[in-house]
Amino acid sequence: MADHLASIYGTEKDKVNCSFYFKIGACRHGERCSRKHVKPNFSQTVLIANIYQNPAHEPNCALTEAQLQEHYELFFEDLYVEMCKYGEVEELNVCDNVGDHLLGNVYVMFKFEEDAAKAVEALNDRFYAGRPVFAELSPVTDFGEACCRQYENSECNRGGLCNFMHLKTVSRSLKRELQDAQRASIKILKGSSGGDEDRDRERDRDRERHRSSRDDDRYRSSRDDRRGGRDDRDDRRERDRRDRY
Ligand SMILES: [Zn+2]
Ligand SMILES: [Zn+2]
Repeated sequence: MADHLASIYGTEKDKVNCSFYFKIGACRHGERCSRKHVKPNFSQTVLIANIYQNPAHEPNCALTEAQLQEHYELFFEDLYVEMCKYGEVEELNVCDNVGDHLLGNVYVMFKFEEDAAKAVEALNDRFYAGRPVFAELSPVTDFGEACCRQYENSECNRGGLCNFMHLKTVSRSLKRELQDAQRASIKILKGSSGGDEDRDRERDRDRERHRSSRDDDRYRSSRDDRRGGRDDRDDRRERDRRDRY
């Protein structure tokens, strides 16, 4: 691509490529858009479309703000832990927009592109809360560009129908707890790889093993600290949670 073209790629000046798709990973015209939606072959970011079903949008929702936030934080935790099985998660963002193309969208940015690719492949075979999951690699790499600046200053007058991301927020304590749990489990992974000639093979094996026990790590570091132990019922509940995917 010539330099002068590279500088307008994906901007409003680009008459060929859709700037909304490029920046936000979704555009209200969808497949009918007159500009191109160039799907990336490699990306750190995965879009899981329409996965968060906010009970606030149900016609007779009687939940309080606090209950809605609790519902959302349980979803966030559930999904974060699930995504950590595929690789190191750098960011997980959930849209609060109500337009069809952004409703309930989740963007997961992994540290490594290969983990994002793995996640897409695995997620498309799965269900969440009884609905099939739709995941794809997304061109979004800069959430600062994707997010609505007015919304962040509580000044967006387009409300939920805005075409830039309005992100839902989680409590700082939950975010920190999840990040700490992830860091701790990565440390275990790193500490367990040996230094001999079979190191690579061993690392793969360890990865596999840790991946399957990753949510146990999470439960050890978060739930059990609070509750001081778990019983069979908890184990069963965890299995049920996992089976939802
Ligand atoms: Zn478009
Ligand atoms: Zn906005």
